[in-house]
Amino acid sequence: MLEIALISLILISVGLLIISLRSVWSICREQGTFGPDYAWKCLGFLIALFILGYLVYLSSLLESEMQVIDFVVVFTLFAGSCFVVAVMRLSLISIKEVKKSDLQVQHHALHDALTNLPNRVLLNEAMSRAIAIAKRKNGSLAVMLMDLNNFKEVNDTLGHFSGDKLLQCVAPVLKKSVREIDTVARLGGDEFAVILPDANIDDAKTIASRIICAMEQPFLVDQHELNVGISIGISQYPDDGVDGDSLLQKADVAMYIAKHNDSGFSVYDISRGENSLAKRVVLEKLRSAIAENKLTLHYQPIINLHTGGLYALEVLTRWHDDELGDIRPDEFIPVAEQSGSIKQLSLWVLETAIRQFMKWKEFNLNFILSINLSAKDIQDEGMFNTLRHLLSKYEMNPSQLNIEIIESSMMLDSKQPNHLISELNQLGVSLSIDDFGTGFSPLSYLKKLSTQAIKIDKSFVVDMLDDHSDDVIVRSIINIAHNLNQAVVAEGIETSECLERLKELNCRYGQGYFICRPLPVNQINTWLEENGIKDMAIDEEAIVAS
Ligand code: C2E
Ligand code: MG
Ligand code: MG
Repeated sequence: MLEIALISLILISVGLLIISLRSVWSICREQGTFGPDYAWKCLGFLIALFILGYLVYLSSLLESEMQVIDFVVVFTLFAGSCFVVAVMRLSLISIKEVKKSDLQVQHHALHDALTNLPNRVLLNEAMSRAIAIAKRKNGSLAVMLMDLNNFKEVNDTLGHFSGDKLLQCVAPVLKKSVREIDTVARLGGDEFAVILPDANIDDAKTIASRIICAMEQPFLVDQHELNVGISIGISQYPDDGVDGDSLLQKADVAMYIAKHNDSGFSVYDISRGENSLAKRVVLEKLRSAIAENKLTLHYQPIINLHTGGLYALEVLTRWHDDELGDIRPDEFIPVAEQSGSIKQLSLWVLETAIRQFMKWKEFNLNFILSINLSAKDIQDEGMFNTLRHLLSKYEMNPSQLNIEIIESSMMLDSKQPNHLISELNQLGVSLSIDDFGTGFSPLSYLKKLSTQAIKIDKSFVVDMLDDHSDDVIVRSIINIAHNLNQAVVAEGIETSECLERLKELNCRYGQGYFICRPLPVNQINTWLEENGIKDMAIDEEAIVAS
């Protein structure tokens, strides 16, 4: 009997030890790793109850005479402890297995099986993250697209198996050539992309040179020494695009140029005219976009800041190409100007906008239509007749048309004010000097121009609350404009504080993202409706100004 009591005590103590040490340890270690926290707390509570029961039973055993039935209970309790610990252990192992295979599935979904580099999905995620950070910090980032120069030959001569091995050798070389924070991804075939967060064009050029240098080494594949070069195209946020697709598309154009010129790498840059091929690509596409009516117009309200009434809608052209993505007017207008397509483009803009304006008039919507013309347009001798013809064709009141010309274009001939400007005045069309403050016009020249409004360039307005000198410039332009009897329009109003400051400075008109972004016709109609702009007369002050 004594032995049975001893064995019982040993069993019960070992069982108690197993359950308390093993389960308490598991609960502490795994809590928060799998499943919700409250489930672990419940489990901990139940096990504490179990241990308490165990202790109570142990103390009752010590106090009373032991029976056979007690031994059975002790044995059952011991087996129960082992069972609980074993079940817990097995469950944890299987949960970990499930978790591991889950992670593997996730890894496969986001990585390329051949090279183990991130795939397009992960690249897009990394790009969105990098763009968001660059936007927040007002910084930049670069995107590289690259492919191997002789990959097709390797595939054709040595077979796909060797081609795959070559790609597996190239991947680590690319990874080693970039910085820790950069993402190298394989997009498919021999095409790779790299996101360079927080990098400017110079950083990207340095990294591109490093990649080209590293790729000059021969790769040993199936006892063959293979020399494959690489062609890299570079684009930059925000200059070449503000979303991932546009940046990749621009980098693709640059890569095409790098390949064509055999130059190793090329930076997308049509505006500075460094690579004529990029321009030719854009130009060809622009020509067909104009001919095939693929451009669209957006309209941005210009309001009277004091009354909130609508003064005008500015017409802004938009171009989306399936391959190049969204191309900004700042990029394609200079190309159109240099190639002679601007005439056709401006004609299309004028006619489409005037036709739309007359539709608004049918609904008794009354405001000024403000259209941008380029430097080339105002030198074009036929422009006056074109405008007169369109006004009479659509029976548009000339006083409801405003033409915006950027300050630097007005200055083309420093002695003589431009012909078109005086002719338009005679016709009754009003004129605004766009982007005022960027063109260094002598004030004496401004006096000679018979314009009706001055638009303060957005670069001064956007930061005027943080940058004292911008505030001073804006204030001075408003004073100059008033002294020259011109209406003033501030561009780039992005916050309510900025709008209030402009009102304080007595700036009468304004436009900007805070008021309304440039929108396509259907959305601008909604804006007009939501803002109660229906059956309203033209802003009286606007008539006075024009
Ligand atoms: P712009 O005439 O000075 O037009 C104002 C520009 O500022 C537009 O850029 C507009 O989207 C942008 N903007 C408006 N509000 C804000 C704001 O609150 N913040 C900021 N940061 N920007 C704002 P967009 O549409 O890219 O046009 C750029 C320039 O391209 C225009 O400057 C204009 O000079 C030219 N452009 C646009 N469409 C045409 C066109 O059909 N013909 C000609 N010749 N030039 C055009
Ligand atoms: Mg404008
Ligand atoms: Mg402007």
